[in-house]
Amino acid sequence: MYDLIIIGLGPAGVAAAVYAGRNKLKTLVIGEEIGGQSAVSTDIQNWIGIPSLPGAEMAAGLSKHLDTVKEDVHVFNGSVVKSIAKIDSKSKIMFKIMTENDEYEATTLLIASGGRRRKLGIPREDEFIEKGVYYCTICDAPLMTNRKVAVIGGGNAGLESIINLLPYASQIYLMEITGQLRGSKKTQEKALQGDKTVVLLNTKPLEILGDQFVSGLIYEDLASHERRKIALEGIFVEIGSIPNSEFAKDLVETNQYGEIVVDPLSGRTSVTGIWAAGDVTSLPYKQNNIAMGDAVRATLNICDYLLKD
Ligand SMILES: Cc1cc2nc3c(=O)[nH]c(=O)nc-3n(C[C@H](O)[C@H](O)[C@H](O)COP(=O)(O)OP(=O)(O)OC[C@H]3O[C@@H](n4cnc5c(N)ncnc54)[C@H](O)[C@@H]3O)c2cc1C
Repeated sequence: MYDLIIIGLGPAGVAAAVYAGRNKLKTLVIGEEIGGQSAVSTDIQNWIGIPSLPGAEMAAGLSKHLDTVKEDVHVFNGSVVKSIAKIDSKSKIMFKIMTENDEYEATTLLIASGGRRRKLGIPREDEFIEKGVYYCTICDAPLMTNRKVAVIGGGNAGLESIINLLPYASQIYLMEITGQLRGSKKTQEKALQGDKTVVLLNTKPLEILGDQFVSGLIYEDLASHERRKIALEGIFVEIGSIPNSEFAKDLVETNQYGEIVVDPLSGRTSVTGIWAAGDVTSLPYKQNNIAMGDAVRATLNICDYLLKD
């Protein structure tokens, strides 16, 4: 029986584990791989205190920090949580966590299972991830200094991606599959100012071109049904992300995007005894530092809750 089970070994999960360990909570952390989404990145740009950091080094640093609390924090590395349930007990709120082969019980849960980027699902996309195909403009825009890029997705995320690229890229093609941009008018005005951005409506990306790095994109003009090719060096995919909340959505409240709804002041979910932090939540701005800060706040709130228990 644990005081706390943390689901996820990304920045949020590890930050929570460190604080839980320092507060002497009997804790279990369950996750697939340490480091989370940006562990694959060759260049993490916003890890405050270190201007540029390979994802693998960030993951190694998290692992080292996690080791400092191993007396109180057990790490179940290499497994995923399949489902969670509330245990019926009159005296105490408790939860059961099911993995492929095991079950664990705890008084509190922190869900820090993050998200995964929605991909285009077109040929060669996976081959060029971080070699011209990017899913985080705030992180990777500086790599595109004086280069031609495409932003895929004409919603607010795509438009904000353009705003982040404007100081760097030489030309930006905004590709939107429908006949109109979906982002707010104000963001559109800001993103489309100047003459760097070319809007291509009714366009569907079909195939990425390149040798070791991206060199172009083939797309279909859905109005004329013609296939066209543009030369470019960067493709920023901004068609949304998918929260890893499937195992929890029958228990806690999620929003229309599947994100777990939390109170921003505490990280509490709709169920007493369950907290969530990081990219899996309904809070905006999905970034490493934010995920860790939110997880720390949630863990301190869990400590207060357990003290009152
Ligand atoms: C390619 C890329 C580059 C990025 N670069 C930057 C950057 O430079 N700077 C920056 O600030 N942000 C960057 N981001 C965003 C940043 O990675 C996220 O905001 C951050 O990882 C969120 O942390 P998290 O711990 O909430 O979730 P995640 O990092 O997603 O970690 C969640 C962890 O939980 C695990 N998990 C999922 N489901 C389960 C389950 N059922 N059971 C157990 N474990 C589970 C996952 O495998 C993962 O290890 C980047 C994102 C991507 C995709």
